[in-house]
Amino acid sequence: MPVPRVPRRRERLKDIPVQGHKRVLLASPRGYCAGVDRAVIAVEKALERFGAPVYVRKQIVHNIHVVTELESKGAVFVDEVDEVPEGAHVVFSAHGVSPAVVTAASDRGLLAIDATCPLVTKVHREAVRFARDDFEILLIGHEGHEEVEGTAGEAPDHVTIVNSPDEADRVEVKDPSKVVWLSQTTLSVDETMETVRRLRVRFPELHDPPSDDICYATQNRQVAIKKVATGADLVIVVGSANSSNSVRLVEVALEHGAKAAYRVDYADEVEQSWLDGVETVGVTSGASVPDVLVQQVLQELAGAGYRDVEEVRTAEEDLMFSLPKELRQDAAGKRDDRALGGRARA
Ligand code: SF4
Repeated sequence: MPVPRVPRRRERLKDIPVQGHKRVLLASPRGYCAGVDRAVIAVEKALERFGAPVYVRKQIVHNIHVVTELESKGAVFVDEVDEVPEGAHVVFSAHGVSPAVVTAASDRGLLAIDATCPLVTKVHREAVRFARDDFEILLIGHEGHEEVEGTAGEAPDHVTIVNSPDEADRVEVKDPSKVVWLSQTTLSVDETMETVRRLRVRFPELHDPPSDDICYATQNRQVAIKKVATGADLVIVVGSANSSNSVRLVEVALEHGAKAAYRVDYADEVEQSWLDGVETVGVTSGASVPDVLVQQVLQELAGAGYRDVEEVRTAEEDLMFSLPKELRQDAAGKRDDRALGGRARA
C-alpha cells in the first residue's frame, strides 16, 4: 500500500555566497506529537508481542519514512480489513476508524488494536453525543481524509462535511437552531476560525464544541512556524504530502511572511534553486515526522553554508498517552510500565 520512495540522484547542495549572514531558524515544537508516538510504538510492540506479520489498516501515521521502516520490521499495511487474514492482528491507525470498520474487523474474527489518537477519539465522542441530542453536525475538515471518514461514521445521519470557508457560505441545514460545528484535529487554526465565523453569520445559534478539536500539537506547530516565518526568506517543512498538518504548515508559513515555503519528505529533495539569495531558512516538521529527518535537512543546509542554527521555541510539550489497552499487559499478564508514556521526544 505505501508508495515506495523513488531514489533521487543529485549532487550535494553548494555553498553559494549571499549578501548577509546565512542562518537557520529551527521551529520548536515540531515533529512527533503524543498521538503519533503512541501509534508507532503500538505497532512496534504488537510486532514484538505477536510476531510478524502484524496488519495495519491504512498508514499508521501519514509519513512515508515511518511506514517504510515499520514495513521492514514486518508490518503489513492494507486499505481495508477484508484484506487481513481471518484471526490475525490488525492495528487501527492514529486517524481513527468508524464503527463500521470496527464491526467489519470483529465479523472477520480479527484481533484489533486501536491506536486511534485519544484526541481524535474525543471528537468521535462529541459527534456521538451531539447526534444523540439530535443536533446537525457541521464537521469542518477535508472530505476523504481518514480522520474525517472515521468521525463522520460515528453519526452518518447527522454529519455534513464543510471543506472550506467558501463551503460555509453554501451549506444548508434543516433546523438552524440545532446546529453545532466540530472539526478535524489537524487543520489551519486561522482558516477554521474563518469557516466558523462565516457559519455563524448564517446560523447565529451555532453551538461550539466543548473544547478545541484542533489538537495541541497542530496548534503549537502553527504558532512556532508563524514566528519563524516572519524572519525567513525560505521555509522548509519536513512531512509527507498526505500529512494534513504538514501541508498546513507550508500554507501558514506563506501566510505569515515567508517569501517561499516547500514541503519535503527527505533532505535530498531540497533544491539548490530554492536557496538563491536566501539569508535565513526556517525549518519545521509535521506531527508525524521523526526528528532524524529534520537533522538530515539541517546537515544538507550546513553543507550549503547554513551552519548557524537558532531554535525558536514557542511552547513546551510534555503530553503523553498510555498505549492502547490491548498492549498494556505483558505476555505474562502483568502491567507493562514501559508501555506507559511513550518515549522522549525532541
Ligand atoms: S496531530 Fe494531534 S490529533 Fe493527530 S495524532 Fe497528533 S496529537 Fe493526535
